[in-house]
Amino acid sequence: MWPKGAVDSAAGVSRSHFDVLVVGAGSSGAAAAAFLAEAGLAVVCVERRALAEAGARWVNGVPRAAFAEAGVELPGEGESFGRPAPFHLVAPSGRACVREHDVIDVDMRRLVARLQERAARAGAELRERVRVTRRDGAHVMTSAGPIEARYIIDASGLAGARLLGQPAVERDDLCAAAQQVHEVVDRDAARAFFDEHDVREGEILGLVGLAGGFSVLNVRIHPGGATMGILTGSIPSLGFASGKAMLDEFVASQPWIGARIFGGSGAIPLRRSHDRLADDRVALLGDAACQVFPAHGSGVGAGMIAARLLATTLASGGTLRDYEVAWQRRHGGLNAFFDVFRRWNQAVDAATLGQVIGLGLVDESTLRAGIDQVLPPVDARAIASKLRVLAGQPALAARIATTAARSALVHTLYRNYPRRADRVATWARAVDWVLGA
Ligand SMILES: Cc1cc2nc3c(=O)[nH]c(=O)nc-3n(C[C@H](O)[C@H](O)[C@H](O)COP(=O)(O)OP(=O)(O)OC[C@H]3O[C@@H](n4cnc5c(N)ncnc54)[C@H](O)[C@@H]3O)c2cc1C
Repeated sequence: MWPKGAVDSAAGVSRSHFDVLVVGAGSSGAAAAAFLAEAGLAVVCVERRALAEAGARWVNGVPRAAFAEAGVELPGEGESFGRPAPFHLVAPSGRACVREHDVIDVDMRRLVARLQERAARAGAELRERVRVTRRDGAHVMTSAGPIEARYIIDASGLAGARLLGQPAVERDDLCAAAQQVHEVVDRDAARAFFDEHDVREGEILGLVGLAGGFSVLNVRIHPGGATMGILTGSIPSLGFASGKAMLDEFVASQPWIGARIFGGSGAIPLRRSHDRLADDRVALLGDAACQVFPAHGSGVGAGMIAARLLATTLASGGTLRDYEVAWQRRHGGLNAFFDVFRRWNQAVDAATLGQVIGLGLVDESTLRAGIDQVLPPVDARAIASKLRVLAGQPALAARIATTAARSALVHTLYRNYPRRADRVATWARAVDWVLGA
């Protein structure tokens, strides 16, 4: 079992040395602080904003399975917006619908607060308005003085402290997203809007390809009908409007959408997880590690699952490097598999995207896998029928075959992520080659 920190905060004395310093109290950092403290470690978690302002401040879609895997209770009423709603993916020249899936809409303000409370209850010390500036050997320098800890977990997000010297994320790998919750001021007009798209009230309408192949604009009326949510995302470096600009334009064009209640915008890393996630003392977690599902930039579930993996690894006597290897081998391949798809998706135009959907090449079970953040099922009959369709589309067939081969190969590479740190650079070059990066 772990020795506790030098001074017990329960005695009312502030500790000067901790087992673990967690940087950032968003969903990933707060989850890690909770799990590590529950495992008996002396944990301090510092957050540069007020704790009540930490992390995502909008509504995120999170698979229920991620809560189960991370060991976090499912959000209750008030934190989530009901059961998973049927999802309609609509492109200019094709559409598909996923009736059953696992993703619920979560008010992140409440989830982050719940995880922070859980961390505090387990004995973690949470310090707000403390900014980490750099690492200096065993110490981490902060705006409130140095902190000493055996392990440092950098969960400070995409634009955070970069304590492992991780590379900046390339602009073409950044999604500019926005999410807002608004009042519905004219229910009949709202219904008419969804009717026009052949989508029932309460279901999700996802318009894809409005600003490049990767872009999306999701709209949904919440249960009860008084409020609605809009989520947008695009890759501005490719010359398209940002998610925030798409959202503002959409709101301005729909008189049935009323005042904004809450929401936010920001950049999401879409690249596969960083190749190095840890050294002897520092580990990356969440967006800081690019532990984000690349196909739609979802990082909440992955961040909580990674936090659980990290805590379990350390509590059982493992090292940060063991966490790095375990993440890459168990989860890194899934992200890389879908990173191949994301790269293809952002390179195609809306017409090709519509063609792929219209031809039934992205069927319900494949789409569902993408929504649920799992590998697609291998169904021999579905593959045979897609091959028949592709027989008449040789150019498209060649592109799809290359994408599928890359996905399968990169997934295999991740299962063989090297245990020896000095071999990671060679392994990463092979991954880059397969991805065509
Ligand atoms: C508009 C939008 C919509 C999204 N939709 C979804 C979705 O539907 N589903 C989904 O799963 N994901 C979604 N995401 C992504 C998701 O929000 C992130 O993956 C998730 O919030 C990452 O959590 P995190 O704790 O790793 O990082 P963050 O939420 O970024 O938290 C990092 C924390 O660290 C703090 N910090 C930063 N630097 C320092 C420092 N130097 N010292 C101390 N503290 C510091 C920050 O203040 C912040 O509180 C969306 C993102 C955006 C922008």
